Amino acid sequence: MSDLTSGAGWTPPQPPACDCVEHIEEVLDVVIASRYPDPPSMTVRELLATGDLSVKPMTERWLGGHDEGPLHWNLWAGDEARCLYADDAQLRLDRSLMERPGVERVEWVDREILLIGAPSMCADGVLAAAARALEDPRVR
Ligand SMILES: [Zn+2]
Repeated sequence: MSDLTSGAGWTPPQPPACDCVEHIEEVLDVVIASRYPDPPSMTVRELLATGDLSVKPMTERWLGGHDEGPLHWNLWAGDEARCLYADDAQLRLDRSLMERPGVERVEWVDREILLIGAPSMCADGVLAAAARALEDPRVR
């Protein structure tokens, strides 16, 4: 198998060699309120099952965020995640992500794609941070 990270100059950490405060398995039962009545809410487990919240390591070196620093993770927040945050919310989704421990920078590059600079986090930790960012009521 080829090393997909070679172009990024960085290797995604694996637990326990990561600095994540929590991992996705610890937040699966967290309930996230919807902006709409149907469904009124969903659990992180249900959201993951839709395929509209996922994360993968960057395969190329990218810079961005507030300090034009390195970005390591590609977060997909698709249609099912759209009903969980608002563009004109008190706290934009990218700002909410920035508040999570371990997240150093966020670049919102496309409607569904946020690039995250978090060199010491593993994929399951970034996914948990994304779930917590969506759980925050200020993003609706
Ligand atoms: Zn981790």
